[in-house]
Amino acid sequence: MSKDLNNVVEVLDMTKVEIQEIQNMLEEGKTLLIALENGEHVANSLKEGYSNFLGANIELKEEKENCGVCGCGKPANILAYAWK
Ligand SMILES: [Zn+2]
Repeated sequence: MSKDLNNVVEVLDMTKVEIQEIQNMLEEGKTLLIALENGEHVANSLKEGYSNFLGANIELKEEKENCGVCGCGKPANILAYAWK
């Protein structure tokens, strides 16, 4: 599978979605645009281009203050693409 920017599912409040739901969408081949707080783990994932947490490729789209809610409940400051 690959990144498909013509068919992106936005998940801007990560607290509203179960991780299983995200996993399912990734397994279905969807490309997600997710909001995250750029902490240590996220920074490492972006450097690697892979998120162990999501089990998926990850790539920074843009840095943007208050662009959503991170899975941990903190205000998000980056948007990233995730895909399998
Ligand atoms: Zn977080």
